[in-house]
Amino acid sequence: MGKERGERKRCPLYQSVSRAQKRALYERAQGHCEWPGGCKESDISKLQVDHITPRCIARLLGWSKAQTNDPMNRQLLCKPDHQMKDATTRAKKEQVIYQMRGGMIRFGEHQ
Ligand SMILES: [Zn+2]
Repeated sequence: MGKERGERKRCPLYQSVSRAQKRALYERAQGHCEWPGGCKESDISKLQVDHITPRCIARLLGWSKAQTNDPMNRQLLCKPDHQMKDATTRAKKEQVIYQMRGGMIRFGEHQ
């Protein structure tokens, strides 16, 4: 701690991604955006590393930093798809909270 110097407080699960890690994800993704539906964005500089289970939800679930940042929980998305996914995070988080409180598990809902 102590290196924040007045920045916004960082999520304890935050971990930066090295170029080598991004390159490995790119190879796994066969060189394009991984958003389901066949997005063809293939310029690595336009692809962003996404947490499949977002950090805010990983925190709720008690995931460790290692679990949260495992390559299995990462994917490459183009900026528009990343923004579209992030826009659903709040609703997903609310759903997780609801389930953790004993609510029913809902399947197949659209956002
Ligand atoms: Zn895309």
